[in-house]
Amino acid sequence: MEEMHKNELIERDPVMPRATRPLMIVVSAPSGAGKSTLCNRLVSEFPQIVYSVSCTTRDPRGSEKDGVDYYFLSKKEFKERIKNGEFLEHAKVHGNFYGTLEDTVLFAMEEGNHVLLDIDVQGVEQLRQSLARFDPRHPIRCGFTDIFISPPSMEELEKRLRGRGTDEESVIATRLKNAAEEMAHAGEYTYQLVNDDLESAYRNLKKLILTALGSPDA
Ligand code: ADP
Ligand code: 5GP
Repeated sequence: MEEMHKNELIERDPVMPRATRPLMIVVSAPSGAGKSTLCNRLVSEFPQIVYSVSCTTRDPRGSEKDGVDYYFLSKKEFKERIKNGEFLEHAKVHGNFYGTLEDTVLFAMEEGNHVLLDIDVQGVEQLRQSLARFDPRHPIRCGFTDIFISPPSMEELEKRLRGRGTDEESVIATRLKNAAEEMAHAGEYTYQLVNDDLESAYRNLKKLILTALGSPDA
């Protein structure tokens, strides 16, 4: 009985601490690596981790909704916002523009949430460079936590992209071509995760976020 109790304690899920120091969790991965699967699970399990909704000039896919999945902007609107200096970072990815509004991130952090950014390697590079313009105590600078998720192999990546069934053959080809280039940047990230077995990858993702928070549960 006592033994069982001990095991329960060891195997219980870690508790995500309240956001006294909100994190800006920045996650990159080649398309198809399983980033959405892992991140969606994280935000469902922990209500204090919220997505930063990005802007994009690409068309909505499937059931995607404006203001929920992305802010879908015309190229003209996107360029206007670049001109006004509204983006924390922005980049052209797979032929379309994507960007994070500084206000989106700040509002989420001010509400006491950890904010999760799903952005490409160019965007993260820009973020790293722009951190220096913030005061060392600014939440964006203190909370910056970068994670790169890799697939176990290129073969498995191709299998997942096809298996997802959302992209045309030409889109899959572009994404595979870009994947090798993106993977070359993995070493620039503070944390790296291989999404082989989904359950272990998810456990490791939670663990490294707790490490970033300095939690004794990590
Ligand atoms: P991304 O957001 O990185 O483009 P997705 O989360 O959409 O990738 O995952 C791509 C496909 O791979 C989906 O069909 C998903 O269910 C599947 N997948 C994700 N993680 C794993 C895993 N560890 N093992 C097998 N399939 C996975
Ligand atoms: P998708 O079109 O599949 O939703 O996203 C394609 C790529 O764009 C992904 O690699 C995703 O990380 C990246 N992306 C999404 N939002 C942003 C953003 O705000 N900034 C940057 N730089 N990349 C983004």
